[in-house]
Amino acid sequence: MTQSDKVNNILIVDDEVGVRDSMHEFIEMAGYHSAIASSAEEALELLKEKNNIQVVITDIMLPGMGGLELTKLIKKDYKSDVIVMTGYSGDYSYEEAINMGASDFVIKPVRLEELLLRLKRVLKERELTQERIRMMEKLQRLAITDGLTKLHNSRSFYSQLEVEVDRFNRYKHPLSLLLLDIDHFKNYNDSYGHLEGDKVLVKISQMIKSCLRKMDTAYRYGGEEFTVILPETSCEEALLVAERIRNVIQSEKFTPQREKELSITISIGVTQYAVEEQLSAFIQRADKAMYVSKRNGRNQVTAMAAENEN
Ligand code: GH3
Ligand code: MG
Ligand code: MG
Repeated sequence: MTQSDKVNNILIVDDEVGVRDSMHEFIEMAGYHSAIASSAEEALELLKEKNNIQVVITDIMLPGMGGLELTKLIKKDYKSDVIVMTGYSGDYSYEEAINMGASDFVIKPVRLEELLLRLKRVLKERELTQERIRMMEKLQRLAITDGLTKLHNSRSFYSQLEVEVDRFNRYKHPLSLLLLDIDHFKNYNDSYGHLEGDKVLVKISQMIKSCLRKMDTAYRYGGEEFTVILPETSCEEALLVAERIRNVIQSEKFTPQREKELSITISIGVTQYAVEEQLSAFIQRADKAMYVSKRNGRNQVTAMAAENEN
């Protein structure tokens, strides 16, 4: 939220000078910033120019474009709330204004105290709505993020892999996958405790990320296992990325206790997606390749091609 969002910016639209000026003065005295426009067209110019108007209070009857049409355009292009004012003639109904997206409706001649109350209510509701949106966004972020490492979680791994395979089917650009597993991590936990183990997971996650390009994504796949999706990447190129990660981690010093410096290693499996194969076969092959790295002595990278590849 920028500073200008915190200030309450109100725009009053009325072609009658007297009405407009008295509202302007009253609203300013109540502590809000307000601007005035004498037509819908002028109001739209101001909205475009300022881009921080929270509430527009507009008359329905205006020369040129009317207030209801203005409301419709505002709701389409801006995040402002609209309060519409109309004469007592009954030409326009409350329902019409609300259907256009107005937040409230007042009858002219407007009692300024009443207008202020309605304005305050609209601003309050606006604040609550924004709070709700922020909460929803946070929840969505949490749902795809691993709490400890802040990498994406395994649920988001499966959904992203599906997206990438769909893309592969359309463009046939190579797609590769890494599966990484920390070596002898149980020993580390047993020797230095789970909390120290957690610190390693966080640090290794950061190191994996630091080796990736912008379009690559890293996931915490399980306890001490990670995956990396590498779009637009052949198995040969993925091998280079895997080697880089393995090297960076191997060179790092971990200090679970004072004056105790340790190295940690990881084993990696690398594979490239084969035409028309199941997601599960793709993932299993990366897993198999990783186990070959384990069997051959750990701290190494193994690539495995699909059987139908030549
Ligand atoms: P290997 O080289 O064969 O992979 O040996 P390993 O000990 O790493 O493998 P194993 O699968 O036997 O053990 C994995 C260990 O990872 C078990 C558990 O102590 C640790 N681990 C899994 N998740 C977490 C976690 O969230 N935090 C911590 N601290 N440790 C974890
Ligand atoms: Mg494991
Ligand atoms: Mg392990």
